[in-house]
Formats: sequence, C-alpha cells, structure tokens
Amino acid sequence: MIPPGKTLGVLGGGQLGAMFAMAAKRMGYRVEAISDVADCPAAHHCDRVHVGAYDNHEWLMDIARTLDVVTFEFENIPVAAARAIAECVPVYPSPEVLYTTQDRSREKAFLVQHGFACAPHRVVCSRADLHAAVAAIGLPAILKTAASGYDGKGQKRIESGSGSQAIDAAWDALGPKELVLEAWIDFDVEISVVAARSETGEIAVYEPSLNIHRHHILDTASAPTNLSPRILAAARATTAKILTALSVVGVACVEFFVTPDGQVLVNEIAPRPHNSGHLTIDACETSQFEQQVRTICGLPLGSPRQLMPAAMVNLLGECWEHGEPNWPLAICVPGVRLLLYGKSEPRVGRKMGHLTASAATVEDALANALHARQVACHYSPSAETP
Ligand code: ATP
Ligand code: MG
Repeated sequence: MIPPGKTLGVLGGGQLGAMFAMAAKRMGYRVEAISDVADCPAAHHCDRVHVGAYDNHEWLMDIARTLDVVTFEFENIPVAAARAIAECVPVYPSPEVLYTTQDRSREKAFLVQHGFACAPHRVVCSRADLHAAVAAIGLPAILKTAASGYDGKGQKRIESGSGSQAIDAAWDALGPKELVLEAWIDFDVEISVVAARSETGEIAVYEPSLNIHRHHILDTASAPTNLSPRILAAARATTAKILTALSVVGVACVEFFVTPDGQVLVNEIAPRPHNSGHLTIDACETSQFEQQVRTICGLPLGSPRQLMPAAMVNLLGECWEHGEPNWPLAICVPGVRLLLYGKSEPRVGRKMGHLTASAATVEDALANALHARQVACHYSPSAETP
C-alpha cells in the first residue's frame, strides 16, 4: 500500500494527467508528470514535470527510481518506455495492458480470442490486403491506423459503392503502415462504461454513459441512460470481464456500439480514465480519477454510485471562434460547472475543457450543459457528418 505523502508518477501531460493530479493532490500525494512537452495541462497541477523524450530510457529509469508508483494518462506512450520504468517501480495498469490496447489489431485479436463481440474487421498491411478486406467485409467500412489514433485521427470512411480508385485513395491517405478495416456499424447509440479494478481483483463499475460524437470526437456524455436493463447489464458485465481478462490494475473504459437489434459490440478499450467519465468528478461518490489513485496505490476502491443525473459537454477549440467564451454566463446555468485544461492555443478539434451539469433528470442535465456552452461560446455544432 502506498499511503498519502508518497510520490506518484504519471506518464503523459494531458488533461487526464491534470485531473489525476488534482485527485491525488487532494489526497495528500506528491505528483510528478513525465511529458515530452513542458507546457502541458498536467504542469499546472503537478509538483514537478520532467520534460524529455520517451525513448530516453536511462533518463526515464533515473526518474522512476525516485517515484513510488507510476501510471499513464495516454495510451500512445511507447510501450518500451513503460517497460523501462517498470524495471524500477510498479507501473499500473501494467505495460502489457498498454501493449494490447495501444494497437487496434492487437486489441481486436484480444477481443476475438476472449469471445467479446466487436465489429467485423481485417488487419490490412498492403494495398492488396485492403482490396481483399473490402471484398470480405463489404462497404461502407472504416479504415483506421492500428497505432497512434485518437479523437478520430487516422481514420477514413470508405463509402458504399466506392470503386477501386476510392479504395486506393484510402490506402494512400493512411498507408503504408498497419491498418485495420472495420465494417461500418449502423448503431442506434454509443455508450461507454468506466470501471476500476484493484490488485486483488475487486471491480467498481460506473453507470454506463450515452455518448454523442461529432466528426468522430466525443461531444456529449450523459448518465444514466434510458437503455434497457438487458443492454446496460451486458455492457457492465462485458466491461468487468475485459478488465479481468486484461488483469487491469487501475481504471479503464470500454466503448460500445448498441445496434438496432440489441447487440452490444465493443468499439475499443481505453486503459485509463475516459472523457465520457468526466461527469464522475461532480456526480459520483468517487470520481474516475480518485479510483485511479486508489487502485494504483493499493487503497480500498471507492463507491462508483452516481448521486444525480449528469451530463458533460466538451469545449473544443471551436468554442473560442468568437474570442474568449463568456464563462460567467455559462456557470450561471443551474448545476453547471466548468473545468478548463489550461491549454494556450484553441485549435479546431482540440479538447480545451468541459462543462458538466447535474439536474433532476438526465434530459435537463444535458439541456443545461448544452445551453451553458451555447450562451458562453455562441457555438452550436453542425449536424453529424461521417
Ligand atoms: P477516441 O480515442 O476519441 O475514442 P479514436 O480515434 O480511438 O477515438 P474510435 O473510437 O475508433 O476512434 O472512433 C471514433 C468514433 O468514430 C466512434 O466513437 C464512432 O462514433 C465512429 N466510429 C468508429 N468506428 C466506427 C464503426 N466501425 N462504425 C460506425 N462508427 C464508427
Ligand atoms: Mg473511441
């Protein structure tokens, strides 16, 4: 057990690292981030930020020897970096979890091997592979890079009726590297389930959240959902089984597609707290970030119980289009709270912060969070485009 007062390390300096640090600092830990950029969100909340290259293993190991435990906030950290650190200090979740989940082809193989339902897919390593995969899976389909994707980056949809030229264009856009072609799932809704698992195998599962994406980036998350108890139970059970099968010690999130005929298909696994779980900060007995602290430190898990219906809306760089948003107006909306990540440059598609709202009903919570964003930013995203 690592008691308060000890020093926790976090690999990566993004907003998930910042919110982890907030939770850990509150509980009396020292937090040090390891990042490849100095001006990162975690820098505002950590006691120290080590800035350097993730492939400098000697540097990483020197830092690791001064820490009591290390976690990560970003799955695109090279697995070799996590393994080097793990030689000096415990890393949770283990580098093996990172290895499986940071690469779509390995993650899909894990899902298939364990019998977790997911979209039909093929691994694609050449132009010829892509043509064969399209013939096998059909169109529309979505081509994704196996590694380094996030927020829909490294993805290309191939429309139904596309000929050879469009298929070649998709390969030219993303190749030559390992890719995965997935059948396009005409889902009813997308949901995700955050869960925490302790070293002793205890699991705390949060209320599934209903997620709306725009341009492949999460726009809103809300919980509880009004989906059928069967679907919710299936999503929760699958999440718990995945954490157990991966031997996760820490927090992870499983994203699902729910199809019109009631199938609950795994989209992907994030081996860390998740954007859809940010509403747990204000709405749950224990936030997903506090669970991350508890699990990696060997403390008892907290209750994931949600106290009020809640919703979260992301604040992307687009919200700064008309200048600095009017935050006082936003936080006047009942039940609304603001969390900004401290990023200086509001680029389009960049996650700059989020608003959460709690209310008597989930519909009111979502409406209030959207209203707060609208009055602050004059931002009303256009309809979903594929
Ligand atoms: P993030 O890390 O933000 O979750 P990502 O880049 O890893 O994103 P995915 O989760 O694979 O990307 O895809 C982003 C979104 O694109 C999904 O949440 C979904 O809305 C849409 N999408 C991805 N794959 C499919 C699919 N096979 N069928 C239908 N929609 C899809
Ligand atoms: Mg995703």
